[in-house]
Amino acid sequence: MGTALVIGAGGVGRVVVHKMAQNREVFEKIVLASRTVSKCEQIASEIDGEIFTDSINADEVSKVVSAIEKWKPDIVVNVALPYQDLAIMDACIKTEVHYLDTANYEHPDIAKFEYKEQWARDEKFKEAGILGVLGSGFDPGVTNIFVAHAQKHLFDEIHEIDILDCNDGDHGYHFATNFNPEINIREITANGRYWKEGVWYEIPALSEKIDWNYPEVGVRDSYLIYHEEMESLVKNIPNLKQIRFFMTFSEKYLTHLRVLENIGMTSIEPIEIGNEKIAPIQFLQKVLPDPATLGERTKGKTNIGTYIKGIKDGVKKTYYIYNVSEHEEAYRDTKANGVSFTTGVPAMIGAKLVLEKEWKGEGVFNMEEFDPDPFMTELNLRGLPWKVLRIE
Ligand code: NDP
Repeated sequence: MGTALVIGAGGVGRVVVHKMAQNREVFEKIVLASRTVSKCEQIASEIDGEIFTDSINADEVSKVVSAIEKWKPDIVVNVALPYQDLAIMDACIKTEVHYLDTANYEHPDIAKFEYKEQWARDEKFKEAGILGVLGSGFDPGVTNIFVAHAQKHLFDEIHEIDILDCNDGDHGYHFATNFNPEINIREITANGRYWKEGVWYEIPALSEKIDWNYPEVGVRDSYLIYHEEMESLVKNIPNLKQIRFFMTFSEKYLTHLRVLENIGMTSIEPIEIGNEKIAPIQFLQKVLPDPATLGERTKGKTNIGTYIKGIKDGVKKTYYIYNVSEHEEAYRDTKANGVSFTTGVPAMIGAKLVLEKEWKGEGVFNMEEFDPDPFMTELNLRGLPWKVLRIE
């Protein structure tokens, strides 16, 4: 039915391409392009059937335009880094091709997650007659879809949302991040933020903790952090009174992180080393294990879900909608760890729904703005089954 150009051959890119190749009736032609073409070739070699590969510097709009003109995709799936979002979106506008990503734009020099600049392209997407799907990973992504499902089927009004993200996998290293270290550490070391009654509250990084009992995993320390899907959910869910996001970290992980922070290794301010200027966090990334290699050694589960309170027919209700994934199963299926898997599968599903025209529109949309039903069906079919737990 169509051609997909996937940009970024990291952990998530590997899963997207593996899963697209399992759905050839939709993805007739798959092109994987990244800065380092050998990484694309490695992924292509793991898959039966043809995967085209290319090198690309997606920081430059003109290079992305050239790649689009060369491969003529029906959709561009951006699973490079958040720094490339705007350049890839602008190339899609110029060539009138649909766009999908899994993370909101970030400027390399300012650790700030926000949709502002991507939403500002809404008019241009409309003029070009194309669809932009923002944040089709797990969180953001499936978490937004869980909320949309709850809004459509379980509640008349949603009042409170807690998004809960537990990675209980163990890779055996003293310290490693589950996805791109630079992006991951920037996210965690930023101040925590949550929204209540129309106001954003900021707290020092990792200063608020709850014990949460994750079904099929157990009780884990969960820390309040800022996460980008809250920005769009606040805008798109009427009657909402509060939204927070919690992520689990082990004491061992946090001890390593604190030491790295205390000695300045997580800073994004470049320092001079000889004739070079380099941000300490970029150096750190080079010495940490590459997340794309964690899959083979990671054991255990992830549990990510949305704990939602609200009312239905005048009665108070609370539900936890969640998915449990196994790292070992993710590796068997796609040679990737569970975090890349839970991100890459929804990216493939979003692209599939666009190519099948199940999801249509012109402009730039967050996930909760689409009909959740076909997406929820696909999650069960493609390896991310979900459950709904009635709490009260
Ligand atoms: P990786 O670091 O493993 O992979 C990123 C890939 O992008 C690398 O292959 C890299 O290049 C490539 N790349 C970087 N810069 C450029 C550039 N200028 N031009 C072309 N290619 C480039 O990251 P992940 O796979 O872990 O994450 C991918 C994306 O997924 C990130 O944006 C991340 O924030 C997002 N994510 C979203 C989640 C969600 O649930 N929504 C969860 C986890 C991640 P090279 O070929 O040189 O290696």
